[in-house]
Amino acid sequence: MSGNKKILVLPGDGIGKEVMQEVLNIIDWMAKNKSIEFDISERLVGGAAYDQEGDSISDKTMEEAIKSDAVLFGAVGGSKWDNVERSKRPEAALLRLRKELDLFANLRPAVVFEALINSSSLKKDLVTDLDILILRELTSGVYFGKPRGIEKINAVEERAVDTQSYSTSEIHRIGKVAFDLAKLRSNKVTSVEKSNVMETGVLWRKVISDLHKKEYNKIKLDHMLADNCAMQLVRQPKQFDVILTDNLFGDLLSDIAAMLTGSLGMLPSASLGALDSNGKRSAMYEPVHGSAPDIAGQGKANPLAMIMSFAMMLKYSFGMNEDSKLIEQSVHNVLSKGLRTPDIKQSHEKAISTKEMGMAIIEELNILSGK
Ligand code: NAD
Repeated sequence: MSGNKKILVLPGDGIGKEVMQEVLNIIDWMAKNKSIEFDISERLVGGAAYDQEGDSISDKTMEEAIKSDAVLFGAVGGSKWDNVERSKRPEAALLRLRKELDLFANLRPAVVFEALINSSSLKKDLVTDLDILILRELTSGVYFGKPRGIEKINAVEERAVDTQSYSTSEIHRIGKVAFDLAKLRSNKVTSVEKSNVMETGVLWRKVISDLHKKEYNKIKLDHMLADNCAMQLVRQPKQFDVILTDNLFGDLLSDIAAMLTGSLGMLPSASLGALDSNGKRSAMYEPVHGSAPDIAGQGKANPLAMIMSFAMMLKYSFGMNEDSKLIEQSVHNVLSKGLRTPDIKQSHEKAISTKEMGMAIIEELNILSGK
């Protein structure tokens, strides 16, 4: 058996397959030019897996995911599977992966590239050099709390219930990830909840404050109410470094932060689990965008979110910071040269295809590494 890191590649549906191919080309480049080899296994997920294997993720694929050092995920979904029963729908694969790998920490960086500053919804001076990280708790809270359901009250009325629930240990473990990430950045965490009106918010604030006092008192900690945070993100986003928040607020706030950066095609993400007794942490890396059926198969997809998700994998799963930076620098340089896929081009600019963008990144990798 080789000692290479094992990556499970799950391209999925629609543009997932197209953008993943560009990452596989970079992996080939790394093998040829830097002698960095990974053990890659590729399997079906989402609608493609449903069509061939009868479920959006098979037990065999799930086993492979558990054995791998990291999972690289494209995107799933499409109208073809709209009428499939909920538990077998393409998106159910994502929920199963998150649950069985216990991926409780979702990292979504929002970085504004100088070359794309005009794509932001905010004024230039508010977003120049913006670089924030939203850390969202991903496996608990209102999306998972029990009881939940819709019940009949009488002939005309129904009642729907969702339950927001967090335990001390769930808050503690995501808090530790936030403070550890802040150490790698600007040493600042803003913890976000609604302790003014929610019991979970009160416990969240207490646990994070205690953890800060005991283990991380060199890091600056602020607390902010979620509604204020939403406002501050569009008012003065550069005040933040790491925003730590729960599943529901993280879902909303990370989408607001996404719009500050311009396009969905530019946003990577990582989801991390706990360290096991062998020091291994399960992890999955995926672009924020979906399978984009409206442009699938047309060569119009921007592969940069997928490519930057791979760069995050190198950094957070394999500690390959230099190689991760090399890829990020290639992305910066290619954009600075004016190369644009349709989603990020201004009306007067010419667009290039998914493949051409992938090739431009490889070309830049060659230049930066003196090949
Ligand atoms: P989407 O992210 O697929 O697309 C939203 C819009 O952004 C579309 O106009 C699309 O063309 C554009 N876009 C997205 N990624 C792009 C890229 N890389 N380059 C250029 N343009 C890009 O969201 P949607 O349309 O709401 O959903 C489509 C399907 O994807 C649905 O089936 C949905 O359930 C699924 N989905 C999957 C994931 C996932 O796999 N993680 C996430 C979101 C949505």
